[in-house]
This record gives sequence, C-alpha cells and structure tokens, in this order.
Amino acid sequence: MIRPALGAAIALAALTLTPAMPAGALPDPASAQQSYMAQRAAVPEAKAAAVRTAVDMAPLARPTLRVPFRCNETWSGASRSGHSPSYYAIDFNYGSGTADLGKPVKTSASGTVMRSAYDAGGYGNYIEIAHGDGWRTLYAHLQSRAVGVGATVTDSTQIGRVGDTGNVTGPHLHYEQIKDGVVVAALFGASTWAVYPGPSSYSRGYDC
Ligand SMILES: [Zn+2]
Repeated sequence: MIRPALGAAIALAALTLTPAMPAGALPDPASAQQSYMAQRAAVPEAKAAAVRTAVDMAPLARPTLRVPFRCNETWSGASRSGHSPSYYAIDFNYGSGTADLGKPVKTSASGTVMRSAYDAGGYGNYIEIAHGDGWRTLYAHLQSRAVGVGATVTDSTQIGRVGDTGNVTGPHLHYEQIKDGVVVAALFGASTWAVYPGPSSYSRGYDC
C-alpha cells in the first residue's frame, strides 16, 4: 500500500511542478552563462599574443596607470601560472592575514565605469573602467562597489573596498590592465613594470 501511494505522490509532484513553473522562473540566460572571468579567459591565445606585441612596440601610447591604492601604502603583487583569466593579472595583498579586507581601492587613471557588477563564478564584485583607445582596468573580489556603470572617475576616486567575494581563498585585490580585451603586462606610472610572477612591492608614488 505504501509503495504505490508514495510513487503516485512523487509522480503527482513531478506533474504539478513542471507545468506550474512559469516562464519567469526559468534561469536567467545571463546568469546561466559562464562567468565574466571565464569569458575573458577564453580570448584566443593568438589574438592575445598579437595585442601584447603591439602594446610592447608602442609603450608611449599607453595611458599612465597608477597603483590602485592610497598613498603611503605598500602592497605586495603577484601572479602565478594558471591565474585566471591571465598570467598577467595581479593579485594584491596588504599586510598579513586579512589586513587588506576593507582597504580602499582607487582607480589607476581617470575614465568611465563600463561594468560594476557581481560575477558569481569568478570575479565576485568587480568594476571595469575604460580609459580610452581600448585601454581598461579591472578590479575584482571587492567587498563593496562605490561607483556604478556610466560614472566618470578620476585616479583619486575611491571605487570600492578590498574584499573576498567570488572565487577566492582569502581577501585580495585582483587587478588587470587590459588593451582591446587582452590582459597585458602591467606598467605603473611611466616606468614601474610589474614583476612576474612576483611577489614584488608596489606603492602609489605621486601626488601624496
Ligand atoms: Zn587574481
């Protein structure tokens, strides 16, 4: 008696659940897609190499991009093989443990906020800023975001705080310098090339 009754109940539940689900309850196509980080990692390597070569051949065409933190702070920056979406991304840490959690993040240069969103499978809270001529910077795993899409920022604007959102094992700022959709080797100011894989120390050394 119990088995047929249970089976009938399950069948009834299945029957009622399926037609009862309205179209609006289906997964949002946008959220069903892979994370923005994964999309960025899918740039074909041939395209990435071509962009990096072009950038290397025209260093003076780069915008001046500063270390994305307040003055008088020394941050450790590093990358690693397998770093997504690119080896040329940098993970910044301050102090030890969770000392970096909540510290202010500044933009590397003036520009326009193109993305300010939450990327569940990768970046967590992230912001992407356009600086003109295909150059962008990206700031990820933020605890909070202080600017929205379309906002105009200067390099002294605080855009958010360091956090541990998204795919992380602890708080840090994930940072990218991007040209035409490709993460390129980071250059801070006019002369401080990032050290890969690092770690190396970085501090904002202007207007302090
Ligand atoms: Zn990272």
